[in-house]
Amino acid sequence: MTIEKLLIANRGEIALRIHRACQEMGIKTVAVHSTADADAMHVRLADEAVCIGPPSAKDSYLNIPAIISAAEVTNANAIHPGYGFLSENARFAEITEAHGICFVGPKPEHIRTMGDKVEAKRTAVALGLPVVPGSTGAVTYSEEAIRVAEEIGYPVLVKAASGGGGRGMKVVPDAESLESLMGQASSEAAAAFGDPTVYMEKYLGNPRHIEFQIFGDGKGNAIHLGERDCSLQRRHQKVLEEAPSPVISADERARMGGICADAMAKMHYRGAGTIEFLWENGEFYFIEMNTRIQVEHPVTEMITGFDLVREQIRIAGGAGLSVRQDELEFRGHSMECRINAEDPRTFMPSPGKINLYHPAGGMHVRVDSGLYAGYSIPPYYDSMIGKLIVYGRTRESCMMRMRRALEEMVVSGVKTNIPLHQALLAQPDVINGDYTIKWLEEWLAQSEEA
Ligand code: ADP
Repeated sequence: MTIEKLLIANRGEIALRIHRACQEMGIKTVAVHSTADADAMHVRLADEAVCIGPPSAKDSYLNIPAIISAAEVTNANAIHPGYGFLSENARFAEITEAHGICFVGPKPEHIRTMGDKVEAKRTAVALGLPVVPGSTGAVTYSEEAIRVAEEIGYPVLVKAASGGGGRGMKVVPDAESLESLMGQASSEAAAAFGDPTVYMEKYLGNPRHIEFQIFGDGKGNAIHLGERDCSLQRRHQKVLEEAPSPVISADERARMGGICADAMAKMHYRGAGTIEFLWENGEFYFIEMNTRIQVEHPVTEMITGFDLVREQIRIAGGAGLSVRQDELEFRGHSMECRINAEDPRTFMPSPGKINLYHPAGGMHVRVDSGLYAGYSIPPYYDSMIGKLIVYGRTRESCMMRMRRALEEMVVSGVKTNIPLHQALLAQPDVINGDYTIKWLEEWLAQSEEA
């Protein structure tokens, strides 16, 4: 189908990112927004805008009937869900398609499969992806649970099947605490996700988070676009991402990327996806798959020169993949700093009015943000207000450029985490690429003490 007008079912920098891709493709855009976002940049730039509800996300950005009506009223024939909100809601994808509107994303059944962690892991095994050793499915405290834990070896990790954001997880140090911690994980999962199902995995002590970007055409062809290292995290939230990973060689990238692409081809996966792994002692362990565009997608764009959002829209319209694997080249190095409106020490959100805004610029510097002077950051949503992305021929020149760009960037009126990024890029471990998913929190705890 020819996509002529696309509704952007999101807000903030990703809404703007999608709008920009559409403009370059000659596609008209419709912004939908809550009453709190009437002055947002993407609303101003879109060809049309529809207010879909009050500030609370559940009444606006998660309000399926309001979004579908907005598409019908404006005659939009495609919806891009961005990330977060409805992007991994299989029902939303189904409803969109049932209304004859093209959903810019995977087939609903694939969203559903990957959204259930037990199902996702089973599928990953069937597709030949390496997974964390653990129970083959859901477990409750029983003889079997005790046996599985023994086999895996303590400590084991109990995880919620419907989990998200690292909630409903418990590290079990020994057999004595298995029963009580499984119970706790299960009741936490029931309270948070309405599903008490838990499963068990080997607990990896100090891994890195490395994810592969993939694309499928939905007809059995797929490619990979290399990996991103997102190990620098606080409370399971990524803070600074880079591509390529400092620990992955070109051979390893080709091998593991090939395994990911083959898996997606077998599945007839459609559109963009990210396969997330923990990496320890040279081994990859699948943890989950995200069936959408990711916040950190620009670092992949910087080192491949490949527009991921454009490709998403092309594929949703029925086109094939625009490049073959052997046409893709990985060149240089890229990093992304997530810029949040928050206190750099306490991490308390800092919404409010921006009185001065000067984004960084210059060669190989990209700022994805809807900020402008006079804009008021509403208190209702995520505190991420933009992303600073840079490219360098080497990892070293990339870091030099990022330091320069952070120095140049001015966001005044609210607190931001720019000082945190500056401190991070002065740390020898970060400079050497020598960090794991534990590193940032340990460093913050030490800085707190000092
Ligand atoms: P969620 O959907 O809650 O984010 P994930 O499966 O992605 O769940 O796990 C969240 C985080 O928990 C991971 O990014 C990693 O930091 C940690 N984690 C998950 N599985 C393991 C494991 N087997 N061993 C150690 N840490 C893990």
